[in-house]
Amino acid sequence: MYINTEGIVLKSVKYKDSDAILTLFSKKMGKVTVYAKNVRKMNHSSMAVSQSFAYGNFVLRTQGKMLQLSSFECKENFYFLTEDIDKTFLAYYFVELSEKLLVENQTNHRLLQALLESLYALKDIEKYELVKLYFECKALRFCGYQPQVSKCLKCGIIRDNSIPFYFQVEDGGVYCYHCKSETEGHNIFYTQYDNTTYQLLDFMMRESLQQVMQAEISSVILKELDRFVRQYYSVHLGELQLKSVDFVRHIAP
Ligand SMILES: [Zn+2]
Repeated sequence: MYINTEGIVLKSVKYKDSDAILTLFSKKMGKVTVYAKNVRKMNHSSMAVSQSFAYGNFVLRTQGKMLQLSSFECKENFYFLTEDIDKTFLAYYFVELSEKLLVENQTNHRLLQALLESLYALKDIEKYELVKLYFECKALRFCGYQPQVSKCLKCGIIRDNSIPFYFQVEDGGVYCYHCKSETEGHNIFYTQYDNTTYQLLDFMMRESLQQVMQAEISSVILKELDRFVRQYYSVHLGELQLKSVDFVRHIAP
């Protein structure tokens, strides 16, 4: 059986002299492993597919439990990502994050869309730190790690400006001033963020990249959101042990 799908190569591992094992983020099947025969031979028309970030239309053939690459039509190889070391690091960070968060054979159209959008954005947009934060927020939302910052985790009161709300990172959400007071002396640690930080997080998770880029966001709030995201990632996504995270640490507001 043949399957025709759009997708992007997240990872490519050399195999034998001329083959490759691809981790493909496909639209129709989500993350899948694809055996690509002879793609590393010189002059092979499918050579481009053996590189990470190769994006286009894939024709895959099922062979038992295995998927084999039949043909590839390249739409974009994201070659511009190699122009600048920070672009390269960020792109690797985005694909590594996607690869680790995705569940095999489970589609995730919204994450695929956010990934492509963020990679394309690196072509012209110089605010790398904003693209990075955008993708990090989208990844949380689309992969089931969305922090709960719109209402108190305990009493459910909607967050507003009338009372302070405190973030409890292990619980992944905020507590209102009253519920936080009840736990005093219980050795529970909270971080206080300004309301605007929670609003910006909601905005990033909800809106398109274009809208985020057009918005006027103060650098102070952006720094706060970055602090929030780092804190959240270290607790909830630390187990992913992302290799690329150290290379993009300096890309911050
Ligand atoms: Zn409460």
